[in-house]
Amino acid sequence: MLIGRKEAGYRPLNDRIYDYGEVEQTLDDKDRIDQAARCMDCGVPFCHWGCPVGSKIPEWQDMVYKGDWKGAYEILNSTNSFPEFTGRVCPAPCEKSCVLAIHNEAVTIRENEASTVEHAYNLGFVQPRVPEVRTGKKVAVVGSGPAGLSAADILNQAGHEVTVFEKNNAIGGLLRFGIPDFKLSKTVIDRRLEIFVDEGIIFKPNVNVGVDITREQLLEEFDAVVLANGAEQPRDLPVEGRELEGVHFAMDFLSQSNKRIAGEIIPDELSILAKDKRVLVIGGGDTGSDCVGTSVRQKAKSILQIEILPKPSTERAPGNPWPYWPNTLRTSSSHLEGCERRWSLSTQRLIGENGKVKQAVLVGVDWTQDEAGRWIMTEKVGSLEIIDVDLVLLSMGFTQPVHNGLLDTLGIDYDARGNVKVNAKKQTSIDKVFACGDVESGASLVVRAIEAGKIAARNVDDFLSGE
Ligand SMILES: Cc1cc2nc3c(=O)[nH]c(=O)nc-3n(C[C@H](O)[C@H](O)[C@H](O)COP(=O)(O)OP(=O)(O)OC[C@H]3O[C@@H](n4cnc5c(N)ncnc54)[C@H](O)[C@@H]3O)c2cc1C
Ligand code: SF4
Repeated sequence: MLIGRKEAGYRPLNDRIYDYGEVEQTLDDKDRIDQAARCMDCGVPFCHWGCPVGSKIPEWQDMVYKGDWKGAYEILNSTNSFPEFTGRVCPAPCEKSCVLAIHNEAVTIRENEASTVEHAYNLGFVQPRVPEVRTGKKVAVVGSGPAGLSAADILNQAGHEVTVFEKNNAIGGLLRFGIPDFKLSKTVIDRRLEIFVDEGIIFKPNVNVGVDITREQLLEEFDAVVLANGAEQPRDLPVEGRELEGVHFAMDFLSQSNKRIAGEIIPDELSILAKDKRVLVIGGGDTGSDCVGTSVRQKAKSILQIEILPKPSTERAPGNPWPYWPNTLRTSSSHLEGCERRWSLSTQRLIGENGKVKQAVLVGVDWTQDEAGRWIMTEKVGSLEIIDVDLVLLSMGFTQPVHNGLLDTLGIDYDARGNVKVNAKKQTSIDKVFACGDVESGASLVVRAIEAGKIAARNVDDFLSGE
């Protein structure tokens, strides 16, 4: 009742935009313990319900409050293999359903999580736990994002021999090649991977399953397979001028940036850079926001982010009450670094000169609901405008996993949205093949991928051990 919410905040703007270091700061221990003390230990902790991995939040807040970092980490880690990832990049649905948030400001759960796991590493509590008994069963995990790594961790701890295959040259999925370094430093991934290697997990990067390993090899050499290969099919913009030079999918731009920071040389003819360019980011979501922050650091001349949907309100709508996720306006650290944001704008076409994009034709749109409650979009008369652009980044989400290649070769069933079809046990239509994460849910969140990996691992273990 006496202590207000205190966030660590971001590094000063004129410091952080000149490097790719993490933007978020940390509180000192006294302040952090005070923040944990704000948790009321509610009889019915809605935060625990709001958290996709079911984190036992009041329990570890109490440990933090008592300065017991080891106890706090153990409770945190008992439901989440990677609090160091979620502590940095989770949108924290737990805080939106914190009981304090009804009339006051929520407990800083996500920041407390990051702080707890950093204390645990610094104090030496995160050590390899090598399984004492091995079952002799072999499991292949395809894809090394948070879903695959979460499943691999639990299956390895259960004593199975786990091999993680990754088509990219480094492990981590979108943690490594999607999320920018200024949100999640890649040393945080490497630190966890070193422990996993000591614990016996086998990592095989540069292996495209379905190409370098055939369907038959996969199914014959392994007792079970976990597909965690993500939802990599980006939503395209089928307008005139889409083929022009300078129009790219956001992921091509972002993954290049992360690779460059990791020391990879990108050949000039393939480089996508925002330096001195007028950048148009199409899509108002998180990936778009990451394009903004990356463009700022690459010294773009100007950045405009547009969204086809209307501008969300800053307050919860009556039909969107606590403790549900609020569909309200979100402003990221990248947005604060210098960009214009506009809503209710549709891209009609792109205009080029000598094959390069030069202008974008935008039109304002209105959204109304028909009798059945469906949203109808209409163009606003007289709202057409033409803006100058040099780089267009398409960040309108992902439609589904890539079917061509591994999934079609396996002959797996898809659901109505084109994701891999699974039952409640995350089992696919093929015996001994399970799936978890974006590949079966559609593009989602790190925390949901971690939870899906847990469910798949538990059921693979049941399948292999019969109990
Ligand atoms: C730019 C961006 C920023 C994001 N930021 C956030 C954020 O801040 N917070 C948040 O919670 N979520 C964020 N997300 C979403 C989050 O990253 C994903 O939901 C999550 O990574 C999904 O995990 P996954 O393990 O299912 O798949 P992925 O992370 O996509 O991993 C799948 C892996 O499988 C590999 N693969 C695919 N096919 C094969 C094959 N045939 N053989 C071998 N390997 C294969 C891929 O190369 C990839 O590495 C972001 C997404 C993007 C694109
Ligand atoms: S994983 Fe996300 S939702 Fe769960 S406690 Fe951490 S920040 Fe909250």
